[in-house]
Amino acid sequence: MTASKGEIQRLIECCICCDYLNDVRETPCCHQLFCLACIQGWLQKSTKNCPRCRSTTLTEQSLLKNIVIQRFVDNLLFECPNALHGCEAKVAKSDLVKHKRLCAFSSEKLAAKQQAKLEESRTILFRCKEGKTQITDNVLYDLANLFYTEHDYDSAKECIELMKEKEHSQKIIILQAQVERDTNHYDKALALYIKAYRYANS
Ligand SMILES: [Zn+2]
Ligand SMILES: [Zn+2]
Ligand SMILES: [Zn+2]
Repeated sequence: MTASKGEIQRLIECCICCDYLNDVRETPCCHQLFCLACIQGWLQKSTKNCPRCRSTTLTEQSLLKNIVIQRFVDNLLFECPNALHGCEAKVAKSDLVKHKRLCAFSSEKLAAKQQAKLEESRTILFRCKEGKTQITDNVLYDLANLFYTEHDYDSAKECIELMKEKEHSQKIIILQAQVERDTNHYDKALALYIKAYRYANS
């Protein structure tokens, strides 16, 4: 016998909240499964009959526990909600709340990481301006790009200023043009785009 994923899914979902069963309760009338909170909420409403079979004898006290299904749901492994940000963790439902709090890919943690990277980059730029460290155009370009995407246009301009090839590299000229454009210097931006275009066609 085989059951499709959809059939199993239906078995472990609550038909009131359409989410995975939480604190499973079974109705004695028709053996339908619900979350405790969902069926409690339903029974507190004026319609005191079973949401599935309309039995009028259903009460909160008559609800049954279903430990086997609850254990099954609790042990299912779920993808972390931050999977799109790169988290590869598969977590049991019961651990999901804890994982979300600790996940290194949460938007708060990622923002903090980005902020730290920005601070570090500003330190590198500062040391470079002071002549305390020498960095290549490629590293400066990456720094400038980071500052640009974080809207720190002044630092981006300072990086570009320090690049040896700033007059001769098409990608640096384009970055320069983007910075000028985003700081509302459209004339400068246009001139730079034209310059970059000439490089592309020379
Ligand atoms: Zn529910
Ligand atoms: Zn029922
Ligand atoms: Zn995660």
